[in-house]
Amino acid sequence: MKKTDIKSLTLHELEQALTGLGMPAYRARQVFLWLYRKHAVDFDAMTNLSKPYRSLLAQHFDIRSLRLTGEKRGRDLTTKYQFMLDDGSAIESVLIPMGRWHTLCVSTQVGCALGCKFCLTGVKGFRRQLRVQEITGQLDAVVAADPQVSISHIVFMGMGEPFANYDNTLKAIGVLTSEYGYQYSQRRITVSTAGMVPQIRQFIDESKAHLAVSINALYDDTRSSLMPINEKYPLRDLIGALKDYHRKRKSWITFEYVMIKNVNDGIAHAIQLAKLLKEFPFKVNLIPFNSHQGADYERPDDAKVRVFQEYLLGHGIACMVRTTHGEEIDAACGQLGCVGDEATRPVPLPPVGVREGVHGH
Ligand code: SF4
Repeated sequence: MKKTDIKSLTLHELEQALTGLGMPAYRARQVFLWLYRKHAVDFDAMTNLSKPYRSLLAQHFDIRSLRLTGEKRGRDLTTKYQFMLDDGSAIESVLIPMGRWHTLCVSTQVGCALGCKFCLTGVKGFRRQLRVQEITGQLDAVVAADPQVSISHIVFMGMGEPFANYDNTLKAIGVLTSEYGYQYSQRRITVSTAGMVPQIRQFIDESKAHLAVSINALYDDTRSSLMPINEKYPLRDLIGALKDYHRKRKSWITFEYVMIKNVNDGIAHAIQLAKLLKEFPFKVNLIPFNSHQGADYERPDDAKVRVFQEYLLGHGIACMVRTTHGEEIDAACGQLGCVGDEATRPVPLPPVGVREGVHGH
């Protein structure tokens, strides 16, 4: 019998599955606690379940985890992890230190079909969607590799477009925020999109997590040249959806703006950005382009970045130049893509058994 990956089920789905097997629904909550709070990797560890229930679970489900295959640490302690999935695909996550805490940047797809020109993942193309467990499992695997880390924030900004894997992204957020799961506040979770308008509208109604948009240009021709998705959902449609997001959520939006030399780093772009976005609150992260193997673009001059930032600040726009974390280990924005693997330090698999006391948030 083909077993179900139990960590790819939401609490509601698990309740339904267990009642279908003749178990009371509340047992699903107990199983969730074992999986996500006590980090059980074996049904036998779930000692408040009777033996017959444990063997029933073992007959129908398995508990999968990601296999850590590499780890690279930068000078600022930003760490890139590489994981092998059970079909041999590789994905990456990036752990970014923020004082005492850490932000974990997770992947949602193997590759990406959107083909943004400045992004290594996009250049390498799409292979498949990640299952729920393969998204949340990045958190478990990172903490297993380094039990000292306290992951306070999770950003869906790794490999892939989260809204192109919408259902699993929302289910993963459900597991991360469940009171029987990881117990993260929705406010500590950010989903970043390249601008998939129908899914942004769905997200407004279905999630309370924070939204970030990879905007990168406020002229359609420039944006389309960088991000083919703009042909399908041009700026007018995107901005319309974001205004609705703000109207309904009463929440600000983060714009990621990758600055590329002589493409979108001129003052005209800053003026357009300030003009078009003045109607709702947002903050802008300016990210000077991180070069990667095969990239056609260059990083802008520091002076131009400063002028751009000062223009936005001068017009009352919250704007910061994001420190480039992990550039030398190819872990910075747009550099993920499972390249340079030969330089990645192989690490032993995490120990099996029950892991206690994982993240603090
Ligand atoms: S920037 Fe994001 S959406 Fe665009 S190709 Fe890269 S991973 Fe995909």
